Amino acid sequence: MTKLVPFLSRYWWHSNRSRHEVIARVYAPLIENSISEHKELIEAAGAEHLIRKDGWVEAFRSNGVRDVEFVEAERLAREYGISYTRLDKAELAQTEPHLSRDFIGGLKWNDPWSVLDPHGLTAAYLKYFESLGGRFVIGDATTLVPRSSGAGWQVKTDDGPVEGKDVVVALGPWSEEVTRKLGYRFLLGVKRGYHMHYAPAGKARLNNWMMDKERGYFLAPMNKGIRLTTGAEFAYRDAPKSPVQIDRAERVARTIFPLAERLDAEPWMGARPCTPDMMPIIGKAPRHQGMWLAFGHAHHGLTLGPVTGRLIAEAMTGEKPFLDMTAYRPERFNP
Ligand SMILES: Cc1cc2nc3c(=O)[nH]c(=O)nc-3n(C[C@H](O)[C@H](O)[C@H](O)COP(=O)(O)OP(=O)(O)OC[C@H]3O[C@@H](n4cnc5c(N)ncnc54)[C@H](O)[C@@H]3O)c2cc1C
Repeated sequence: MTKLVPFLSRYWWHSNRSRHEVIARVYAPLIENSISEHKELIEAAGAEHLIRKDGWVEAFRSNGVRDVEFVEAERLAREYGISYTRLDKAELAQTEPHLSRDFIGGLKWNDPWSVLDPHGLTAAYLKYFESLGGRFVIGDATTLVPRSSGAGWQVKTDDGPVEGKDVVVALGPWSEEVTRKLGYRFLLGVKRGYHMHYAPAGKARLNNWMMDKERGYFLAPMNKGIRLTTGAEFAYRDAPKSPVQIDRAERVARTIFPLAERLDAEPWMGARPCTPDMMPIIGKAPRHQGMWLAFGHAHHGLTLGPVTGRLIAEAMTGEKPFLDMTAYRPERFNP
């Protein structure tokens, strides 16, 4: 774990309340535009059936936590214009009749959209991309080299070498495997997380994406079943899976909602690509012509994919980006 110390110490430094508030303010424009940018793609890709537009719920077990969260929700509503609804015990029970009565109330965040099948959505986007003439090939990004003649880049793929004037490095937690060779250092870390799908027991129904705030896990009604998602595990990206979190969260989740059998052979694990200052890296590579960087989106990679794509496309084609990209520039780690 000692190799994680440089990342973790900087991450911890940025998590200080006043520093984090500054980060939240410069991060907010990305989030504010996330739905509108997805919306256009969802419509173009014919993927409306994969989307729900009715927010999500945080449920509280104790009056103390509920009161603090209600005050915080009011602050967020005032500062960021976010819409929320307070739910008392009876209202929460009415919203989620099959949830145990351990909860004394909740908060419904009204604005967010959710995806019933994230892989289905990205597959629909890919189909749309191909319908516009785009080509999808699989290759090894670590073979990326400058083109032997003229400006641009070349990479080896299953379909042979592919060349281009510009290249976008968008490899999530693997991005440094390409950028480090070119002399950059971003000090990425990962927060790993797990999920598992369950059948509901009997006729039990979960109506909302729901977080058990004081126990730190999520239950969500997905196309594949009820998805239990864990919080963050700080570990090496490639370390073997450790199913401790999912087992613990499952034990708690079974006490609050009638879950039946597991539907996946083993828990899915992903790695959220995190930068030390909690903001993504979006922009031109400081020392290489025709190279663009788009990674480090942590908990919001799916949410921020389209807004990031638009910013990179605008910067690449010389248009004025529709948002100020200064805060996301790669130079903050590589002056
Ligand atoms: C449990 C969990 C829950 C999450 N929930 C949400 C959520 O609700 N909403 C949200 O927005 N985000 C969520 N995230 C975060 C989200 O998954 C990430 O932010 C997102 O995947 C990052 O996207 P990316 O495209 O940058 O990287 P990735 O999705 O990791 O994609 C990187 C790709 O690069 C490929 N690759 C690696 N090396 C090479 C190579 N040498 N050559 C070619 N390709 C290579 C990998 O195979 C991979 O396909 C969650 C993450 C976890 C773990």
